[in-house]
Amino acid sequence: MALETTLILFKPDAVSKGLVGTVLNRFEKEGFKIRGMKMLYLSDELLADHYSHIADKPFFPSVRDFMQESPVVALALEGEDVIARVRDLLGPTDSKAAAAGTIRGDFGDKEGDAKMRNVCHASDGVEAAAAEIKRFFKEGEVF
Ligand code: ADP
Repeated sequence: MALETTLILFKPDAVSKGLVGTVLNRFEKEGFKIRGMKMLYLSDELLADHYSHIADKPFFPSVRDFMQESPVVALALEGEDVIARVRDLLGPTDSKAAAAGTIRGDFGDKEGDAKMRNVCHASDGVEAAAAEIKRFFKEGEVF
């Protein structure tokens, strides 16, 4: 077991559907602790950094437009093995393939944009989590 902090983004679909509290409650019920939380609008520059691994994919422009539909809520969440456990709670990228009981299975889009409108981003490893927390939070904003 390792005490870790992960970076979660409540995507614009979560914000517009009023799902932030419901999903946050799932994280808190697991015993994870909020260390930082804020709402922000993602600039082109921030999105290019955050999604550099998909920047050359044909769907990237749609992802960028989607992520700029509204502000997002960024969360720094701490807990034992929180990085992998939050990824498990989310389920796979494609909400249609996500099991009932997972966050994407319960709340993600089940129609056209199932792979994109999938409620939350969460860091996929220790290095990514450290880089992403630095990207989204300034010094003094994580407690
Ligand atoms: P994850 O967010 O599950 O780690 P990726 O890092 O592979 O997945 O992709 C980043 C984001 O890009 C996804 O969460 C999703 O919003 C979007 N995305 C990924 N694959 C597709 C796709 N084939 N079509 C549309 N959007 C996609």
